[in-house]
Amino acid sequence: MAAEQKSSFLQVAIVGAGIAGLTAAIALRQQANIHVTLYEQANELTEIGASIALGPNGLRTLERLGLNNAISDEVSFRGPANIPMIYRHWKTNEIIGKDLHDNVTEYLHRTARYHRGHLHQALLENVPREIIHLDKKLIAAKADPQDGVVLQFLDGSVVTADILLGADGLRSGVRTAFVPDFQLKWSGWTAFRAVFDTSLTDSIPDLPEDSTHWWGPDTNFFASRLGKNTYTVVGGAHANPDDPNAPFKDTRWDQEASVKLLRDKYKDWNPIVKGLTEITPDIRFYPNLSGENLNTWVFGGRATLVGDAAHAHGGAFATGGSLAIDDAYAFYLSLRSVYDATATQKPSSSDIHQALKLYELTRRPHAERLLKIVHAANKAKADTFASGTLESDEELRARAAKGSNTNWLHEHDVVKAFEETLRCASQATADSSDRVLAKL
Ligand SMILES: Cc1cc2nc3c(=O)[nH]c(=O)nc-3n(C[C@H](O)[C@H](O)[C@H](O)COP(=O)(O)OP(=O)(O)OC[C@H]3O[C@@H](n4cnc5c(N)ncnc54)[C@H](O)[C@@H]3O)c2cc1C
Repeated sequence: MAAEQKSSFLQVAIVGAGIAGLTAAIALRQQANIHVTLYEQANELTEIGASIALGPNGLRTLERLGLNNAISDEVSFRGPANIPMIYRHWKTNEIIGKDLHDNVTEYLHRTARYHRGHLHQALLENVPREIIHLDKKLIAAKADPQDGVVLQFLDGSVVTADILLGADGLRSGVRTAFVPDFQLKWSGWTAFRAVFDTSLTDSIPDLPEDSTHWWGPDTNFFASRLGKNTYTVVGGAHANPDDPNAPFKDTRWDQEASVKLLRDKYKDWNPIVKGLTEITPDIRFYPNLSGENLNTWVFGGRATLVGDAAHAHGGAFATGGSLAIDDAYAFYLSLRSVYDATATQKPSSSDIHQALKLYELTRRPHAERLLKIVHAANKAKADTFASGTLESDEELRARAAKGSNTNWLHEHDVVKAFEETLRCASQATADSSDRVLAKL
């Protein structure tokens, strides 16, 4: 295709080829008049990371995009009992609580668990490699309503585009470019995670088939099968984040650690948990970091954020993957509302601004609600550890019996939310025109 013909298309630069960035690219590429380029800091896209879950919300969105390869049992695991989470007592192994789906009838919409590398690979299969530029770490960005966006990379290269989508995760360079004083804070929780072959669990009697969270007085333990015959365990330790001598305060994300830490931490737990720690071959540290709600998600009328870059919620409620997918889809719906597949002229700067605002109005209040819950829970946990008074067994059982109450997150309908935002925005415009007419 001739270069000048391509440049008349809308140019969208996506920074970050993770879960949000790849989903956004797949959604936007449904329109031939949008030219998408991805810029990724890594020099290769390998299968690293541990486990990730997708709830009905993210799974429904991937299905809308026709990504059956990313939601099938070929790549993910769904528990036979159709219970997204079962809570058990740390010592007795009794079931003390459950999270249930509210409104999930389709098998493929049931909560699914993956090795993050397998989900990433399944998305990647739907994105042409030639649009992904590796070894491109974004270090600066500018956005101007009239002139578009300018991206600068560590290797000295500079590119321009009409719209910049920051999908560059927790430590987003795009967010730093527009909100330089944003800070991540350690919550005091450091996860110890491992993924290994499911066959290693054959030696453990009575291992639950469904994903299980054992709750204990000062920490929890999660175990689940994942897709492609893999199995995950997640343990960890809480501490007071404000204590300068807190254990694990200075660990790095994905840092190798001694499996002895896991075995020592859970040595007095029930035999299933203890058995799981004994067969775990190795672990890695994942310190839990989160950040405050951003005041705006729209920068210079031309740039916005999706996924962890937009809301650093510390992976709470295992919802980060689905939120990223739904952000990406809401971004696409918003852009489509001002620039559909039949458009032959690029949208005006005010149309682009309107699309980004629609996206923000659809997603930021949802993320803000989650961030409030996360920060309140982190504070309560930190206060508990600072005071040295742990939850009693009765309190723990009562908390587990209530469950997580997060179906507002896991079963959120992003399309409905977008349509409602659009309806309110049109109503507001009509109301203000009525007021203008009334004054004439
Ligand atoms: C390698 C990796 C492994 C992970 N493993 C797990 C896991 O096991 N379990 C889990 O729950 N979550 C994991 N996560 C995080 C999880 O993917 C996200 O929390 C969630 O899916 C939201 O996705 P996201 O696209 O917003 O961010 P991410 O999936 O983190 O993707 C962000 C992408 O942006 C790239 N990037 C970052 N900064 C820049 C920059 N300045 N310039 C260019 N590119 C940049 C990153 O390399 C990454 O590819 C992992 C993330 C990564 C990057």
